[in-house]
Amino acid sequence: MLYIGSHVGFNKNTQILGSVLEACSYGANTFMFYTGAPQNTMRNPIDDKLVNDAISKMKEVGIDFSKVVVHAPYIINLCNEEKFDFSVGFLRSEVERVHKLGVKYMVLHPGSHVGLGVDKGIENIISGLNLVLKGDTDVVILLETMAGKGSEVGSTLEEIKRIIDGVEDKSHIGVCLDTCHLNDAGYDMSDFDKYLDYFDDVIGIEKIGCIHINDSKNELNSHKDRHENIGFGTIGFNNLINIIYNERLKEIPRILETPYVDKEYPPYKYEIEMIRSKIFDENLLDKIRKQS
Ligand code: FE
Ligand code: FE
Ligand code: ZN
Repeated sequence: MLYIGSHVGFNKNTQILGSVLEACSYGANTFMFYTGAPQNTMRNPIDDKLVNDAISKMKEVGIDFSKVVVHAPYIINLCNEEKFDFSVGFLRSEVERVHKLGVKYMVLHPGSHVGLGVDKGIENIISGLNLVLKGDTDVVILLETMAGKGSEVGSTLEEIKRIIDGVEDKSHIGVCLDTCHLNDAGYDMSDFDKYLDYFDDVIGIEKIGCIHINDSKNELNSHKDRHENIGFGTIGFNNLINIIYNERLKEIPRILETPYVDKEYPPYKYEIEMIRSKIFDENLLDKIRKQS
């Protein structure tokens, strides 16, 4: 079975039930969401009734809850020493929220070292993760592979490996691949099996818990991080289809984070249909504009 979905919203009134309904409207069987605005710390308490209703709905439509993913807020930066206590505290409270929601996987950007250097950055990320992961929740933090924009840590597998090596609680740490970021970081996505072999040598592919499926607006090794709709970027449709249908990652959720068309129309229903059909539609974006 192919587990495919997209980033969806989460608002204070409908919470995870609203996220499930949005995923359903795209024909998805998994999804990813933030538990509140990613750029601030305002969070509403988790409503147990909405969680229960969401679980019933997922059972009804065949969404496997164990494949659902949360994205940690991007204001968290474990590298930054001035923000360190804040980041650790907020990440810890997010882990608790995610645990209360019953979600297992939370994707985290490792952080940006902003002048401290990679070594110090990695050291701080490890200290932060060891403070957050206390072995008292089921939540697995997935470190996202980054594009290497600015001073981002985690754009090479070796950096991700160094972080994992330093984390004491190895059963609660993993990796989230992002195809746009990998391309922009210099990993050629036209031979994904070769990349997986390399990943398996360095870290072990059993550590991959999620894969973000995005095309890229920029060339290989551009260190830019600008996502493009499926088939409309430099990675291309056939390469993305090969990644999506790769048998070695069969059990892993595939999450689209492609841009809204004209910043207005969500493309996910159409992209998921196109991915299921395995046939590229060069008029897809126009079709979305007309049907929205
Ligand atoms: Fe991300
Ligand atoms: Fe991503
Ligand atoms: Zn990105």
